Amino acid sequence: MTDLRTPSERVCTRCGRHEHWSEDAHHWRIGDDAGRVHCIHAWDITASFPVGGNDTPATDGSA
Ligand SMILES: [Zn+2]
Repeated sequence: MTDLRTPSERVCTRCGRHEHWSEDAHHWRIGDDAGRVHCIHAWDITASFPVGGNDTPATDGSA
């Protein structure tokens, strides 16, 4: 079965940059196209993995 925890591929929805996870090196490796260097990559990851869940609403009243 496929590993549901670790995504093995991801594609930037903005510039089309494609990367795959290197099990050996434990980091993302760029596929065919490096894409734009300055793109804030919005990854469309092909696995069940939480992405960008840093959206905590400040409801405690302290700005
Ligand atoms: Zn990108």
